[in-house]
Amino acid sequence: MIRMESVTKRYPDGTTAVDHLSMEIPDGAITVLVGPSGCGKTTTLRMINRMVELSEGRILLDGADIREQPVNALRRSMGYVIQNAGLFPHRTIVDNIATVPRMLGWDRNRARTRATELMERVGLDASLASRYPYQLSGGQQQRVGVARALAADPPVLLMDEPFSAVDPVVRKGLQAELLRIQGELGKTIVFVTHDIDEAIRIGDMIAVMRTGGELVQFAPPDELLSAPADDFIEDFLGTDRGIRRLSFFSSAGLELTTAPVVAVDSTAQQIAERTALGPRYLLVTDTDGKPLGWAEPKDLTAGGGSVPRERLLSYGRPFEIARQSLRDALDCAVLSPTGWVVAVAADGRVQGVVSQESIADAIRGAHAERAAQAAERDARASR
Ligand code: ADP
Repeated sequence: MIRMESVTKRYPDGTTAVDHLSMEIPDGAITVLVGPSGCGKTTTLRMINRMVELSEGRILLDGADIREQPVNALRRSMGYVIQNAGLFPHRTIVDNIATVPRMLGWDRNRARTRATELMERVGLDASLASRYPYQLSGGQQQRVGVARALAADPPVLLMDEPFSAVDPVVRKGLQAELLRIQGELGKTIVFVTHDIDEAIRIGDMIAVMRTGGELVQFAPPDELLSAPADDFIEDFLGTDRGIRRLSFFSSAGLELTTAPVVAVDSTAQQIAERTALGPRYLLVTDTDGKPLGWAEPKDLTAGGGSVPRERLLSYGRPFEIARQSLRDALDCAVLSPTGWVVAVAADGRVQGVVSQESIADAIRGAHAERAAQAAERDARASR
């Protein structure tokens, strides 16, 4: 664990970049430092690997003051990724990635084998190995930067605005890739960004800083969204806090019903049974259980089970039950022409449908559950 104790950095010109910052950075999780430009994020990150020496306070790594270890050993235990990747322009991709293992004295073959493995891990095609950085896209270069930082398998990864220079679509891909790699490797990652949405997307813990180098709030993302510490954080978080928070609640608990679901080859008897329940629409599925669209019961009855495609109402966008969040389910419900949402399994087969009202109930339930958890945590803390 990295523990910062009242850490202050004053640059020689008198600027206080970081002011009495204390926090515990948990192992095996992603901690994001976020805040407006100039609030001291990069300085904080660089004090961890001693690229910047702190002025006051101390930083402990697994209980030991980082100033007590040789700086080279400290930096080897921490991969470092920066914006624009910072690759060596005259080295091939594979040699860029193999830099640290080579420095550690690995022989050429072993270092290259490791580099090739890492290329696959970060989603880079092996055919890029002998190219030079300028022959890669920005997103690919960033992946090389991550692979290079991981090469010697350090327990800690420091990432300074690594994805800020790429376009939003590539950036989303890189974020998803980082989460996937983290799921496999479980590193202790400290990640700097000025983008609160990026922080919320990838952070297990978020440290929000404000100009002057002050830590304003240190909390998991859903807590930040539900209980911002002050007006500055509320402003910084922007609009739609409530909706965005729903992405931290699973859709697994939603109550599905199959009552209004009929297969396209249903008998008149089956349609009559469904119709007798009084639904406004029935969801018609194909013989494989995949959704075709919503039909009015009278049309289904008249057509003996089959309704011309053009009379079917779109089933909108289905959501994958359990894997997707309440936010996804709500979004589907808002977009649905019938107010009902179709829940599918990973294979696209219909598992049931959910009404907007049931989603609203689930949201209320989730809030109550989180509030109870928070109250219990507070009670434990004060004991
Ligand atoms: P951020 O990463 O949040 O943008 P920085 O840590 O880079 O913030 O900078 C924090 C403050 O320290 C800013 O006011 C910046 O101008 C100042 N600063 C950063 N590096 C130096 C330096 N080498 N000398 C003097 N001031 C610096």
